Amino acid sequence: MPDKNNEQLRIGVFLCHCGSNIAGYLDMEELEKFAKTLPHVTFVQRNLYTCSEGGINEIKKGIVEQNLNRVVVASCTPRTHEPLFRNSCAEVGLNPYLFEMVNIRDQCSWVHMQEKEDATEKAKDLIRMGVAKAALLEPQEPIMSEVTTRALVLGGGMAGMTASLALANRGYEVVIVEKEDKLGGMLNKICKLGPSMTDASQVAEERIKAIDQHPKITVFTKSRLVRVEGFIGKFKADVETEAGVKNIDIGVILIATGAHVFTPEGLYGYDGQRVITQLELEERLKLGLDPSVKNVVMIQCVGARDEQRPYCSRICCQVAVKNALLIKEQHPDARVSILYRDMQMYGVENEELYRESKIKGVRYINYSPDRPPEVKDDQVLVFHPLLGRELNLQADLVVLSTPMVAQADAHEVSQLLRVPIDENGFFLEGHVKLRPLDFATDGVFLCGSARYPANIREAVAQGLGAASRASIPLSKGSVVVEPIISVLVNEDACRGCGLCVALCPYGALEIRHTDKGRKVHVINVACKGCGVCAATCYQHALTINSFTDEQLSAQIEAFLGT
Ligand code: SF4
Ligand code: SF4
Repeated sequence: MPDKNNEQLRIGVFLCHCGSNIAGYLDMEELEKFAKTLPHVTFVQRNLYTCSEGGINEIKKGIVEQNLNRVVVASCTPRTHEPLFRNSCAEVGLNPYLFEMVNIRDQCSWVHMQEKEDATEKAKDLIRMGVAKAALLEPQEPIMSEVTTRALVLGGGMAGMTASLALANRGYEVVIVEKEDKLGGMLNKICKLGPSMTDASQVAEERIKAIDQHPKITVFTKSRLVRVEGFIGKFKADVETEAGVKNIDIGVILIATGAHVFTPEGLYGYDGQRVITQLELEERLKLGLDPSVKNVVMIQCVGARDEQRPYCSRICCQVAVKNALLIKEQHPDARVSILYRDMQMYGVENEELYRESKIKGVRYINYSPDRPPEVKDDQVLVFHPLLGRELNLQADLVVLSTPMVAQADAHEVSQLLRVPIDENGFFLEGHVKLRPLDFATDGVFLCGSARYPANIREAVAQGLGAASRASIPLSKGSVVVEPIISVLVNEDACRGCGLCVALCPYGALEIRHTDKGRKVHVINVACKGCGVCAATCYQHALTINSFTDEQLSAQIEAFLGT
């Protein structure tokens, strides 16, 4: 069968063993024999690791020597490997969108490890469907768009300031929008930073000064983002400032809005005086702790890892240990006890700090959430599981370690920027391992405690990381977007009802008034090809490149054997 350009189809199928991940559970010889029988397949090859240099060279060699004009790789997940295989095709002159990937690992060998025969049959179905679709693939051209070389950074805490300076030092304009009356965020409230014990206000002042003096950075304090439209490279933002609303054109947006500390109203007799939070202790440590405080009891996981906030805030244990050491530094005779459920001291230096605190006499007592400590007047009662009895600890000061919680406006920001938040209100990255500082929405990046509670080093690292990610489109001055997007294939059919516009999660559609009346328009750069619009349109006016009705029907027919 010739393709639409009247070229005879020559499909190459590359079957990957993925070591033993696939070959250990599927009959690869059988699959090879099967693939050779499929329509238009002129070449089949098995590889130990198709994604290795050797495997990639085999694909390229196959395209050149066998004159292949469609390539199917049956291997792992397109999520991680599709770009690599597409690029390999492009490197030897085959349009990368004439490539199809079939997932016979995650969707087959891994989930049917005990059923080799049936799993092999399923792999055959998947390969047959992939080949049927490949026969109908058409070349696509990438989409280019200009980028405004200005970044908007939401939040002026450690992560936001670090990201802003990194971007500005690379020569890009940066606009910081901070809702408080000054930059610095949590740094303004903390005494010293662990594990280095550097003075937090000094760190804050240095960064604020660098930002104030930087010609590329504009700061709006007491301000907030109220409206955003556009897409990567061409966002338009409205920022409400004290001097009115400013309209700003930007290319990228970084979310560094941070988090705040949970206030434990009604828990353990919290009163902000004798029973305080770690953050309130920081303020007292800054001024110098009252020498009359001889006995301090800290209680960990207050308002955390419970039904309301089931997550671990990660950094409270480090804060407690650091503050215990600071108390010991100011008053070496003070008795400090830390009542904990589990100590979360990840990292060599934090572990070292924990050891040091034990050497200096900080006492650690494990408690069970089934039998939490009780604060009574100037005493804390705690059941000691090893001693098997209740201890009565003298407490001039009780310090509650409470979790970081999402900002109250996180939901609003997520709606404005069309990026997700999790069930606890923290922003949800594109992929926890592969895109930890990105969102699925291109051009929007994430760092610091807005993502999840982060200590100062993590905030810095993430700020630098997000700035690097944001620098990619800024430095190129243009973005190239995957052409697997929605297309208006039947303009006459479109009634301009706007249903698809309302449902597009990326704001990639708009209704325009044309000579033919109201018609939908796809903003190519914003479209992520999710398919919601094509599935929604009752008029079949829209389709998705590389996922057309024809291609999907061919896959279904191949599966049904019709
Ligand atoms: Fe309505 Fe379909 Fe046109 Fe969208 S493409 S406006 S859903 S008719
Ligand atoms: Fe929006 Fe449709 Fe593109 Fe999905 S495929 S992002 S719904 S335009």
